[in-house]
Amino acid sequence: MPLTPGPDTLICSARECTHDAVNAVVWSNPKIHYGRHKTWLACEEHTQTLLEYLKHRGFPAEVKTLDEIENDSTSD
Ligand SMILES: [Zn+2]
Repeated sequence: MPLTPGPDTLICSARECTHDAVNAVVWSNPKIHYGRHKTWLACEEHTQTLLEYLKHRGFPAEVKTLDEIENDSTSD
């Protein structure tokens, strides 16, 4: 699910959370997303929750700020 840049507020991906996202959790499932990444948006409160959820399942995951994500998707 690609991030759509725009004026809309980015909302945390955690279930039933409606807080503004401040971080992005970038992860992949090596068995399914070979060479690809998924990005979950996360508020302050859920950044660690989402990260631990993924690590618990053995999926490589890292936290990035939204600024880093935007820079990543900007290619010149
Ligand atoms: Zn949240």
